Amino acid sequence: MKKTLLVMGGDRRMEYAAERLAAYFDVYTYGFSASRPIWELKQADILVLPYLSLSGGYLNAPLLSQKIPAVSALDLLKYGGVLYGGGLDEGFLSYCAERCATVRDFFDDEELTLKNALLTAEGAVETVLRETDFSISGSNVSVLGFGRVGRACAKTFSALGAGVTVSARSHSAREAARAEGYRANDFIAHGALKRADVVINTVPSLVLGAGELSLLKKGVFVLDLASKPYGTDFESAKELGIKVETAPGLPGKTAPKTAGYLIAESVIKSEGVCIDEQN
Ligand code: NAP
Repeated sequence: MKKTLLVMGGDRRMEYAAERLAAYFDVYTYGFSASRPIWELKQADILVLPYLSLSGGYLNAPLLSQKIPAVSALDLLKYGGVLYGGGLDEGFLSYCAERCATVRDFFDDEELTLKNALLTAEGAVETVLRETDFSISGSNVSVLGFGRVGRACAKTFSALGAGVTVSARSHSAREAARAEGYRANDFIAHGALKRADVVINTVPSLVLGAGELSLLKKGVFVLDLASKPYGTDFESAKELGIKVETAPGLPGKTAPKTAGYLIAESVIKSEGVCIDEQN
């Protein structure tokens, strides 16, 4: 008999995740248009929350009109069941521990995180093209941070013909960036900022303050990909007339099917189910 699995909350990628999971589990959903009624389900063996599961104390469920306290989602998981989610906070985790739930964090799946970073970089390209009136090819792109998302952005923008400069605080990251064919500077070299047509920030702490922003040239576009608290002083950017966009959950917007299938495959792999390529 198939295990029961409830996919709860999230954006369109979770609809696709549910679609993919249905080949292996008896899937119920809650939080999107074609949800299977959960009153038919007493409690699930497995509960799958969104890639970024929480928003304050609530379940991250942008497609739902009402707010669901995150802990109440656990009422739908069997005592001792398995919970998948990402970015879970201490309070939520201790509640999971009380219910003896096994917690598997999407962020611990390096393969998923790396593939998600590539989708994020593709989404960054779409955002930059939409928000600017110049081509990526031939432009100067300054990438701040050289972790998974920074590296994926450097690769993707460089492949499109941009001149990419990476700013990274660690020597090893700068060496890696140079080995991959980019200019690399200490954090944050003023020259790279002055030259930039586009700045892509991937560092989730304030790195683009008033001083750094004032170095940017007219017409620059700043894309802050980092999670909250982001890396930009938005107030100063506004005063200086600099166009800045944040772009949370990009893969959910630009490639929800691919991103959803990746999430599903992370669950399938972790549950020890053999993935059938025909499915
Ligand atoms: P990561 O692999 O941990 O990389 C983070 C990078 O930031 C590293 O290079 C790190 O340098 C650097 N860094 C951290 N604090 C710094 C500081 N104070 N000064 C200078 N550099 C600093 O993380 P990631 O997977 O690339 O994700 C980056 C951000 O993007 C996260 O906030 C993540 O949540 C977000 N994200 C957003 C989307 C989206 O759709 N917008 C998608 C995926 C991820 P060290 O190696 O020296 O620590």
